[in-house]
Amino acid sequence: MIYLDNAATTPLIPEALDAMLPFLTENYANPSGIYRSADQARKAVREAGRKLAALLSCSPTEIFFTGSGTESDNTALRGVAESMKGKGRRIITSKIEHPAVLNTCKYLEGQGFELIYLEVSKDGLVAVDSLKKALTEDTILVSVMAANNEVGSLQPIKELAKVAHEAGALFHTDAVQALGNIELNVRELGVDLMSLSAHKIGGPKGVGALYKSEKVNITPLLLGGGQERGLRSGTENVAGIVGFGVAAEFAAEGLKRGRNKTESELRDYLLNRLLNEIEDIHVNGSMTERLPGNINISVPGAEAQTMLVMLSAEDLCASGGSACSSQSGKPSHVLTAMGLPEDYIRGALRLTLGWQNTKEEMDQAFEKIKSVIEKARKLHI
Ligand code: PLP
Repeated sequence: MIYLDNAATTPLIPEALDAMLPFLTENYANPSGIYRSADQARKAVREAGRKLAALLSCSPTEIFFTGSGTESDNTALRGVAESMKGKGRRIITSKIEHPAVLNTCKYLEGQGFELIYLEVSKDGLVAVDSLKKALTEDTILVSVMAANNEVGSLQPIKELAKVAHEAGALFHTDAVQALGNIELNVRELGVDLMSLSAHKIGGPKGVGALYKSEKVNITPLLLGGGQERGLRSGTENVAGIVGFGVAAEFAAEGLKRGRNKTESELRDYLLNRLLNEIEDIHVNGSMTERLPGNINISVPGAEAQTMLVMLSAEDLCASGGSACSSQSGKPSHVLTAMGLPEDYIRGALRLTLGWQNTKEEMDQAFEKIKSVIEKARKLHI
């Protein structure tokens, strides 16, 4: 099998599994207990917090573990809305956010908040000026993703956060796709809140985290036993959190060793073969401000769903839009916002690389994709 769907999820790194296993077997203690095994579980959760904090250059007290990236997005947006509703009602986001943000925004609209959805350029980028124009005195929050999950576009987070702060608004970024792939220093970026997820960086599924600056107070989404310093009640997923910590360490080492550069070279190798050796293929999204492992191409004259089924029969895992929308069959809201023609949207393929992919796999993938495109285009005529 050739796995080119690393934006959907990544394989669990063996070191993460090894670190997790004791907390799924002999040490099953609840970290809130007052006996030795509980103490070990509590220490393991704290250690994972330190590892994630090191990756983001923040204090471990600013890391809160959650059940997913989705939950982190919900906590950030609904938490700010609830705690700041006395100050203002405007929330600004972009048209190309993940559904975890967009559907939360829709919910908040129903609660009487005024939502502004910023347009993006044809490259999938938010302009700082467009945010400047949308900011008003009663804007309480701006939420723009660090990296897009479909086209990999990297937003100017530092500049956007600065402009939001000048207008007195808080700034949240969904960095689920960016984590481990680009440097993320929350102090340098100047963000107040950042959503993260373990399974996109070699950690387990069902664990997320929220970075929350100590300067900011938000209302918790979940009420209960007061775990995670009151922001996220619920017995901690100790094994999952431990796995997230190890994956964060792995990501930090990868960034230090320049793994992202190796990945972008491999990405460019496959992309150039696709563009140069197959007729009428178009790349979607910025080629400079882009995640290292992201390829998103349009194949006019072929249906993405048909190509994906054919690729699956060839044991190649790829995707159409985001993992969520590829099941729904709805046209991608990201490519639509970028203004792509309908046949480019219908024939869009996303191929996302990870640290485990090799050059041999790129050559094999190219041959499979080329033959599938030829077949799918014949079907379409
Ligand atoms: N935000 C972005 C940009 C994503 O790509 C994803 C997952 O695809 C999420 C949020 C949701 O993360 P999780 O799968 O941990 O809920």
